[in-house]
Amino acid sequence: MPASQNYEAFFRRSIDDRDAFWAEQAQGVDWHQPYDRVCNYDRPPFARWFEGGQTNLCHNAVDRHLKDRAEQNALIFVSTETNVEKAYSFRELHEEVQRFAAIYQALGVKKGDRVLIYMPMIAEACFAMLAAVRLGAVHTVVFGGFASHALASRIDDATPTVIVSADAGMRGGKVVPYKHLLDEAIELAAHKPASVVMVNRGLADLAPVAGRDVDYATLRAQYLDTPVPCEWVDSTHPSYILYTSGTTGKPKGVQRDTGGYCVALAASMKHIYQGEPGETFFSTSDIGWVVGHSYIIYGPLINGMATIMYEGLPTRPDAGIWWSLVEKYKVSVMFSAPTAARVLKKQDPAYLTKYDLSSLKALFLAGEPLDEPTATWMADAIKKPIIDNYWQTETGWPIMAICNGVEPAPTRFGSPGKAVYGFDVRLIDEVTGEEITEPGKKGVIAAEGPLPPGCLQTIWGDDARYVKTYWSSIHGRTMYSTFDWGVKDADGYFFILGRTDDVINVAGHRLGTREIEESISSHANVAEVAVVGMADQLKGQVAVAFVVLKDASRAVDAASAREQELEIMKTVDEQLGAVARPAMVRFVGTLPKTRSGKLLRRAIQAVCEGRDPGDLTTMDDPAALQQIKDQLA
Ligand code: ATP
Ligand code: MG
Repeated sequence: MPASQNYEAFFRRSIDDRDAFWAEQAQGVDWHQPYDRVCNYDRPPFARWFEGGQTNLCHNAVDRHLKDRAEQNALIFVSTETNVEKAYSFRELHEEVQRFAAIYQALGVKKGDRVLIYMPMIAEACFAMLAAVRLGAVHTVVFGGFASHALASRIDDATPTVIVSADAGMRGGKVVPYKHLLDEAIELAAHKPASVVMVNRGLADLAPVAGRDVDYATLRAQYLDTPVPCEWVDSTHPSYILYTSGTTGKPKGVQRDTGGYCVALAASMKHIYQGEPGETFFSTSDIGWVVGHSYIIYGPLINGMATIMYEGLPTRPDAGIWWSLVEKYKVSVMFSAPTAARVLKKQDPAYLTKYDLSSLKALFLAGEPLDEPTATWMADAIKKPIIDNYWQTETGWPIMAICNGVEPAPTRFGSPGKAVYGFDVRLIDEVTGEEITEPGKKGVIAAEGPLPPGCLQTIWGDDARYVKTYWSSIHGRTMYSTFDWGVKDADGYFFILGRTDDVINVAGHRLGTREIEESISSHANVAEVAVVGMADQLKGQVAVAFVVLKDASRAVDAASAREQELEIMKTVDEQLGAVARPAMVRFVGTLPKTRSGKLLRRAIQAVCEGRDPGDLTTMDDPAALQQIKDQLA
């Protein structure tokens, strides 16, 4: 598609001439057997993409590149925790994946069986994922470092035949042992896996359970040269289950297909991320999240790119580490999260310019709202386009982005761009169910079915919950709800205003906590902020803000903290009006977040209102919630 192509026309075609559009995109994928129907939407909201076709994700990610790029880097594993750095060519990756697949076979894993992967960010985790889909097995990666309770509920939901794990992960120089958590989880779960494959990194105790645990290295040595061909599966065959972050409640098991996902990722590399085969992609996410699935493992490899898998912090040994990798491996596309950008913002920007970043085309950020000050700071520091993109575990790839590969559109800081081709996005009035067309008017971000290829097929094992959760929440309409608020400007750029359950009602005024946060972030001394609604006898609810300061020395005692508080309130007064002014602003060292870096507003709010914060299994640092409690005392 030529760069001059008008995006509007491209987008319209994806909706109005859907099948022809996606048939074209499907050419980027190897099919073992051609499909006979692009999209079967006979039974809404269940979409079946490329029905009748057969393919294999592992074949598309690995085998098909052997012809042209066997000796090129495929997987680059870098750990600044164990100081291991190792690059695998496509040929080597192909070998390792077959070895892993042979191990699965020896343990009785068959097509359709589930394999649960509870692993740190090591190369073996990538082998384990690719080997599973190679056999037509369904992987479910559970973020390493979740405790046993969270793991047990996922074991019971996915009922895996085999679990793959490791003795430990590492974070900030500290060993995080996994084995006892895994043992506890299996103990807690009603379902018992037949076998557990343990990768021994030599970091922590690994007492094997007889008759269940097997050692990866020992088995690998037995299958060094066992060819394991790809199992051709239907396009609609599930490739994986991935649980959502649990920011708003109990995680949902998102089920993904094979063919549609493969097509969607291949197309996104071309039209959104603009990575070329032979180049290097660096996503700083974790394989436990959707970004890790789509843009550490599958997207780059399907596109014939090398991908970096990084274990470590962005600030160790110093804040230049990521950029040194960009220089060393000539990274052309980088992908991270606003939370990481905000961590770097607290460091000296000189670290970001120390290295040669000439290979880098753009930095993409996704996962939570990208506030304008952070985006501007980042752009100034690295002098590269900073591109926000908006999506969900459910969608598997962006709903909103700037499609540079189609039409180089200017980025508008604060906006993740326009609706991405294939997503028939609408803003809906929550109360009436009417569509909002007027620019600047807020609504629920929704989409008409069918969702494009790559999105969730259903919730694992629960079609009824899928329909009820996502397709029945908007008054009188069968539409997919994102559960996020947004507005659109006159040019079609969207702005995300937070989650539908993050709205507070102050004396009859409905306010998005996100808008208040946005305003507070514009204060020069604010690094991060969380705003929640707290029950108030007089006003119904009031806004409360918890702020991490860049320079904490400006709020060391009651008097200086009060001064900062008043300054911040004044900022909100000026930008949004006194109605949005938080009733109080408190200063903390860190904010409670999910392990994927998203603010846990529901937990903060519960603490503010003296309620039980509920399920905290996905929370990163429990001490952060304690700080909030202390501030309220
Ligand atoms: P759960 O659904 O279990 O509560 P979650 O929604 O946090 O968890 P994810 O699927 O990882 O799980 O996150 C998707 C959500 O993240 C989106 O619905 C949106 O609220 C937020 N988000 C993602 N990208 C952006 C972005 N670029 N700007 C603003 N918000 C974003
Ligand atoms: Mg969600």
